[in-house]
Amino acid sequence: TTEIRNREEGYWRISKLSVPAHKDPGKDFVGFSLPLLEAIAKVLEFPVPAMLPEEAFTILRKSFDARKVLKESAFVYTVDMDVKKLLHLEPRTWDFISCLEPKLGLIEYMQDTKAPTGLLDMLDKDKIKVDGSNPSNGSARYENRPRVAVVGSGPSGLFAALVLAEVGADVTLIERGQPVEQRGRDIGALVVRKVLSSESNFCFGEGGAGTWSDGKLVTRIGRNSDSVQAVLRTLVQFGAPPNILVDGKPHLGTDKLVPLLRNFRHYLLDLGVDIKFNTRLDDLVVENNQVKGVVVSNSKNEPGRSSDQEKLLFDAVVLAVGHSARDVYNMLLQHNIEMVPKNFAVGLRIEHPQELINNIQYSELASEVQSGRGRIPVADYKVTKNVGGDETGIENRSCYSFCMCPGGQVVLTSTNPSELCINGMSFSRRASKWANSALVVTVSSDEFDSFRSYGPLAGVEFQREFEKRAAEMGGGNFVVPAQCVPDFLAETLSVTSLPASSYRLGVKASRLHDLFPANITKALQCAIEMFDKELPGYITKDALLHGVETRTSSPVQISREADTCESKSLKGLYPIGEGAGYAGGIVSAAVDGMFCGFALAKQLSLYGGDL
Ligand code: FAD
Repeated sequence: TTEIRNREEGYWRISKLSVPAHKDPGKDFVGFSLPLLEAIAKVLEFPVPAMLPEEAFTILRKSFDARKVLKESAFVYTVDMDVKKLLHLEPRTWDFISCLEPKLGLIEYMQDTKAPTGLLDMLDKDKIKVDGSNPSNGSARYENRPRVAVVGSGPSGLFAALVLAEVGADVTLIERGQPVEQRGRDIGALVVRKVLSSESNFCFGEGGAGTWSDGKLVTRIGRNSDSVQAVLRTLVQFGAPPNILVDGKPHLGTDKLVPLLRNFRHYLLDLGVDIKFNTRLDDLVVENNQVKGVVVSNSKNEPGRSSDQEKLLFDAVVLAVGHSARDVYNMLLQHNIEMVPKNFAVGLRIEHPQELINNIQYSELASEVQSGRGRIPVADYKVTKNVGGDETGIENRSCYSFCMCPGGQVVLTSTNPSELCINGMSFSRRASKWANSALVVTVSSDEFDSFRSYGPLAGVEFQREFEKRAAEMGGGNFVVPAQCVPDFLAETLSVTSLPASSYRLGVKASRLHDLFPANITKALQCAIEMFDKELPGYITKDALLHGVETRTSSPVQISREADTCESKSLKGLYPIGEGAGYAGGIVSAAVDGMFCGFALAKQLSLYGGDL
């Protein structure tokens, strides 16, 4: 049912506006088609849809809804209405307003309205003055500017660096991996020749883990919030297509992310940020419980060679290293930095033919998908079930699909050859013939008990254990252990040939049901059976499970103060993003980086606004 509510003075939000799929111009069109105006007019009880002034409306969101409970698939819109703009339009709208007044209770619409502002506005150079000069001029290096190291150029590190540089800090961005151009070649060498660079791969390098990814920009932290909108608008400034601001399930795809990151880099360089690629953080310089700088080395060389190491001094260090930087967690432990284990999820990656998922989700509309070129988006799915706690004898757990990549491929996210883990990526058109998704169950920190000797890093060892088992099951050389879904349920080795997989480095029929402890396997089996009821046809011999999916989120949280983002145990250290346990996904990591950037700027007296 369509909802309409007063968002702020003079602004009304109309959500759940439904336009039947056969009437809508399709997924790539973001504008006011007549059917959409008709839907708006119907809610407002406005008699002539074509006369609705488009200028007064902004499309905030457009999603495709093909749920079976609906009579018909539809595009669903959220639209903001600026009443003031309606007023300033032609006289015809006056009647319209006056008929809305009793219906909506608009009383204050004549008064001045405040435009919605996002955090991005704070980045507006006119609003932020450093010593009265324009901070965006990279050549103007001010005396005594606070020096900040941002370690890691994933979404959290990039956004922290952006905010800090904009407000006038002297920022050095330290990244162990390569810029996207070279990183692309390293990933090519991995996929084609099986050569894994431990420092430049699917996890490490410019843009972080999200670069060779599906580039989904969905987030659970409130997609219409100012901070999420600010991140999305910033991405648009750097070249993302504007429809990500509106799309209900925005995604970019690797081909869009790579040029975007190049633009991001050039902007930071113009701001005067010193970007050091190939440079690995090995240690922190600590004096009197205060960070004074970092010890770095050339990441092309083996870690730990003191002759390569260089000490760089900073006033603050932002740690944005992601959750695959296990060497950094160990280093933090050596410094007694407070870290606490946290729950996360492990499981397998399932892959189906995309056509099957399109058919399950869309029925007769499936033919309109046309490998991403059609009007209808390539079908995805999201399933969540609670399993156990009943006669099944399984412990109560949540089991869910995660990081689903329609039209994508399964990729290797290991950072060393003895540990094997996988994830999914896609290109913007999502045109591949496969649909993959993680299927994971939650594991709580008390399940890592056998790794207790590793202290707060018990969860990391738990992950490592199953990554090692997966590498052994696959037989080495990055071959992934795989099993057809019916065989996983029946606990038998797949003896007939496996269905084709999008994973390029090879799959081997394996007993995946023996990989995890029995309680995790049982939960996965039970959940798959429940998912099949929601998505009939999900269990099929054409569905292939790949092992393992372990790095769903960080298994540890680095404790920090809520308002300043400073580590609770070491002054001057700012742990952020997914690796620190404060984000899960591209957008939430970027928001955390932005938030921390402002928090630190405030402490460095560079920025005085409210957060
Ligand atoms: P990261 O992106 O992990 O960045 C950390 C950076 O720090 C890396 O560049 C690394 O090289 C660098 N670094 C690490 N250690 C050091 C060191 N010692 N010295 C210097 N630099 C260091 N999320 C989504 O929202 N949507 C998706 O579609 C999606 N798909 C994904 C697909 C894949 C294949 C993967 C691996 C992840 C995907 N994710 C996705 C998750 C998403 O990428 C992460 O949540 C996000 O990148 C986390 O951002 P971050 O800045 O916290 O850390």
